[in-house]
Amino acid sequence: MSDTLQRFRLYIDGQFTDGSGTERLTSLNPYRGVPWASVPDATDADVDAAVSAARRAFESGPWSRTTPQKRAAVLRRLAALIERDAEKFARLESTDNGKLYREMLGQWRYLPEWLYYYAGLAVSDIGAVLPSDKPNFTAVTRREPIGVVAAITPWNSPGLLMLWKLAPALAAGCTFVVKPSEHTPVSTAAFAELVHEAGLPPGVFNVVTGGRRVGERLAGHPDIDKIAFTGSDGVGRAIAQSAAQHFTRVSLELGGKSPQIVFADADIGLAANGVISGIFAATGQTCMAGSRLLVQREIADTLVDAIVERARGIRLGDPTDPDTQMGPVATRPQYDKILSLVADATAQGARIAHGGKPAALGGLFVEPTVLTGVDNRMRIAQEEVFGPVLSVIPFDDEKEAIALANDTRYGLAAGIWTDDVRRANRVALKVRAGSVWINAYRTVGPFAPFGGFGHSGIGRENGLAGLAEFQEVKTIWTELEGQARDPFTLG
Ligand code: NAD
Repeated sequence: MSDTLQRFRLYIDGQFTDGSGTERLTSLNPYRGVPWASVPDATDADVDAAVSAARRAFESGPWSRTTPQKRAAVLRRLAALIERDAEKFARLESTDNGKLYREMLGQWRYLPEWLYYYAGLAVSDIGAVLPSDKPNFTAVTRREPIGVVAAITPWNSPGLLMLWKLAPALAAGCTFVVKPSEHTPVSTAAFAELVHEAGLPPGVFNVVTGGRRVGERLAGHPDIDKIAFTGSDGVGRAIAQSAAQHFTRVSLELGGKSPQIVFADADIGLAANGVISGIFAATGQTCMAGSRLLVQREIADTLVDAIVERARGIRLGDPTDPDTQMGPVATRPQYDKILSLVADATAQGARIAHGGKPAALGGLFVEPTVLTGVDNRMRIAQEEVFGPVLSVIPFDDEKEAIALANDTRYGLAAGIWTDDVRRANRVALKVRAGSVWINAYRTVGPFAPFGGFGHSGIGRENGLAGLAEFQEVKTIWTELEGQARDPFTLG
């Protein structure tokens, strides 16, 4: 293997290590099509060592037992280090996954807010005194850390999707083992250096790199209390099945086939802008991609024309160039999948209003694509493409729009575009999706729960709901008066 590759290591029990094996995985720069970094392919023994370190740190180490105030202070320290190094991490990620440097930088600059938010919740009053109906009892709840967490993350936003798990897990008092995608392991491996500098005790945060085998080892591990996964629904199902052996808790943030519903009274310019941002930003490689445009028939042509006009002007190119708007697709299999789904759609009768081909730039670039004449039952409208492909489906009235929006096994997000506030809210109530944006798309925040209905997942990240995913609730009853009760009745 070439010496020019940047080498990264595992991080286990507070130590950087090459692990116990000899194999390494190479990370490709999708824009240049060349290998640029390598990480150890962790062995089963490495995974077990990381889990044992996290278990020890949880059971006997200082983290789960220290005061919430001290935990919050470490989270704030880590946040400040991310602020300092955001540019470095954005560069590593953009090189690793081909997404725009400016998009990754926006994410890394925003990520400290997750740590500040959960540091605040860590020191907030989150237990409860319950309204006991028995005068001789008090009852209180405590929220206790769930234990050792394994996070398994995808390639599209590795740092963000790790921190959405790490910030609440640490705030709750859990310990953590993370396995990033084998396609984009670098930012997570490098993040261990910040954790080290922030002074997290050994074993609280561990990184193991590798592919499916390492993920499977974690998912079926008897000593893990919770798997926090973001990725595809197929892998999510496999993880849930493995986790069931040991009743390991799971939260699953999976894919989507999210609708953008545009009514005839919407501001066409704003709607076109929102649709573009939903499907062409990040080259369509976002879980919340608004990949189905449901548009009221009388404005369908006008809106499609406005979107095609904008799509024509999208600048493809080097992800690090500030003028670039769309980078390449991250991997060859992903590139092949996108083109084959487009071919399937046209074979079924869909028409290409724009794009539909490999881009002239070559490499892993695909043209921003708009398909009309799509029927919602076609594969292109039912399967996650994870690429820059918009399927346009007209509707006649509100009822049909809602039926089409919900005619999917997914339910991650939806956009509603209309100037009628009553209609916007009626539709928002009826669409089965975890996030609904009215006259907007793709906004998130640490305080706002995010997750899916149906095959888009189980559980929520962010907000109070995101903290609860890393806690067990314990109820403590105390008898106050020494009264014996009938041992053969409940109550
Ligand atoms: P993926 O499911 O292929 O892989 C995700 C992770 O799982 C990787 O780390 C991979 O190594 C690991 N893995 C693979 N097989 C495994 C197995 N059998 N057991 C345990 N781990 C295994 O997903 P991807 O291609 O990296 O990412 C794209 C997917 O992620 C899309 O479906 C997208 O919608 C989804 N996603 C969802 C959200 C969300 O918040 N809902 C956010 C981003 C991405």
